[in-house]
Amino acid sequence: MRRVYLDHNATTPIHPEVGAAMQHYIQEVWGNPSSIHWAGRDARTGLEEARERVAALLNADPDEVIFTSSGTEADNLALKGVAYARRDRGDHIITTSVEHPAVIETGQALEKEGFRVTWLRVDRQGMVDLDDLRRAITPKTILISVMTANNETGVLFPIQEIGELARERGILFHTDAVQAVGKLLLDVKALPVDLLSLSAHKIYAPKGVGALYIRRGLKLRPLIHGGHQEKSRRAGTENMVGIVALGKAAELARQDLEGEAAHLEKLRDRLYEGIVKVIDGLHLNGHPEHRLPSTLNVSFEHVEGESLLLSLDLEGVAVSTGSACSAGTLEPSHVLVAMGLSPEIARGAIRFSLGKWNTAEDVDYVLDLLPSIVKRLRLLSPFYQPAPLPKA
Ligand SMILES: *Cc1c(COP(=O)(O)O)cnc(C)c1O
Repeated sequence: MRRVYLDHNATTPIHPEVGAAMQHYIQEVWGNPSSIHWAGRDARTGLEEARERVAALLNADPDEVIFTSSGTEADNLALKGVAYARRDRGDHIITTSVEHPAVIETGQALEKEGFRVTWLRVDRQGMVDLDDLRRAITPKTILISVMTANNETGVLFPIQEIGELARERGILFHTDAVQAVGKLLLDVKALPVDLLSLSAHKIYAPKGVGALYIRRGLKLRPLIHGGHQEKSRRAGTENMVGIVALGKAAELARQDLEGEAAHLEKLRDRLYEGIVKVIDGLHLNGHPEHRLPSTLNVSFEHVEGESLLLSLDLEGVAVSTGSACSAGTLEPSHVLVAMGLSPEIARGAIRFSLGKWNTAEDVDYVLDLLPSIVKRLRLLSPFYQPAPLPKA
């Protein structure tokens, strides 16, 4: 059976060149980068080269990049690190109701510790309102955290404007850019961003490694104590194989950012236009323009997303309903609920997220399958009324 992977927002396959770089560090360069001798020096060279490559992708300086164990840890370090370091200046944080759980749950944990968090609402298209943000700012606000791109809908947030607002008011600005890195040009010299999270496994490198960009001079309280690795901001002997992989993936991503985005957008539009042609009762979830080139989130009326996912899986097609984290539960996605979608439409959502190696044939395979699957599932729904047959 043909296998088509359309769930790149959950994770990506490992690029062969990334795999080769990892292999080298598994077998040849196994030293501890903190050691002074030759084995350590070889590892140190690889570590710093990886840091330069990640920095180059963001137009940051290498000393502004800290490696972590995941995108989740980078988000935790940004929020808690700033909250704890700036507690004497204020106790208020602003974020959105549609962040990844790595930010939402960290915000909730900080609330339990006595911080106050404002959860900005989004509109029907998943967009925040800058006036809401302006109104939420108080003299006690120490941090604003708004994602660059939403993982479920692909909606892009106005991080330039948000960052400018934060800067005017002397507030730090963090963005979870895990889904945007490698798909959009992100230049921290041009963007008013103080902290930015990314994750290796969303850009064709392995799971278990991420990075946080921290603007030079910014003080954070570390979450992990121990050795002096990562300038004492993240203790623990470095995950060299993962870090080298992330560095390689960052280098590859930088080589053809525009070509990659154009490829993804073309396939996404082929998929959407193809669906519109053959299936009615369709809802596009998310902003029609301000969204990632790779992501298409749609709901089919009277079809449960979970059932559609399973039917597609039987045909070799991997997609997602809402976020991977809620897979296996029938809770509608918090992102779609925050957008004001009815629970029924939210539960009908399917996310297609395209990647580097998807082809037009992959998209056409899905377009061939979808109409009959949707038709079958609708006939099972007690609420579905097929259009009446014309009278003879
Ligand atoms: C995947 C993802 C994360 C978490 O990254 P991990 O490396 O899987 O912990 C955080 N934020 C967003 C937007 C993501 O898509």
